[in-house]
Amino acid sequence: MKIVCIGRNYVGHARELKNPVPSKPVFFMKPDTALIQKHNPFFYPAFSADIHYETELVLKVCKNGRHIEERFAHKYYDKIGVGLDLTARDLQSECKKKGLPWEIAKAFDNSAPLGEFIDKSEIKDLADISFSLLVNGEEKQRGNSGDMIFGFDRIISYVSQFVTLKLGDLIFTGTPAGVGPIRINDRLEAFVEDQKLLDIRVK
Ligand code: MG
Repeated sequence: MKIVCIGRNYVGHARELKNPVPSKPVFFMKPDTALIQKHNPFFYPAFSADIHYETELVLKVCKNGRHIEERFAHKYYDKIGVGLDLTARDLQSECKKKGLPWEIAKAFDNSAPLGEFIDKSEIKDLADISFSLLVNGEEKQRGNSGDMIFGFDRIISYVSQFVTLKLGDLIFTGTPAGVGPIRINDRLEAFVEDQKLLDIRVK
C-alpha cells in the first residue's frame, strides 16, 4: 500500500509558500510507515524544529488501475476522508534550495495521520466538500474541494499514467492555505463538513 500526495493543488497555498501555480499535478509519495496506529499520538521528531500541518481530503482507492481515463476515474475510489500531510518545513526548505528530493521532509514515520472515511455515496457533491482543521479548538484551516486546481478524477488519471494504483492506496489531494506549525501538547481535530473524522495529540 502506498500514499500518493498532491502538492500545490490550491492557489492560496501555492502562493503562501511562494510556489508557482502548476499546470500539471505535482505529486510525491509517502510509505505505509507514515501512517499512525489508531489512537496513538504523533511524537514530535528530533530532526525538525518546524513541523507543519497540511489538512487534506484523502481518497481511498478501491480498484487496481493504470492509465485510467479521466471519465472512468470515479470508479477507482469509493471513500473520502481527511488526513494531515505533516511536513518538516525546515528540512523541506533546505531540500528545495538544493534541488534535492523531499523524502526527509515529507515521508518520515507517522507523517500521515489519517482519520475515518465516509462512503463517497454519502457525499452530495464531490466538487463541494468542505473540510477544516482545529488546533486546540481554534480553526486554522478551512478548504473546499471546489477550490482544487486539479479535481479528484484528474489526479487519479494523471498519477496512474506513471504509477499503477492499487486497492487500498491513499491519495492526499493537497492543502488549502493556512498551513502552520504544530507544537508538543497540541490537539489536532479535522472535519469533513460537520463530521469530526480525525482527532490526534502531539506529544
Ligand atoms: Mg500537502
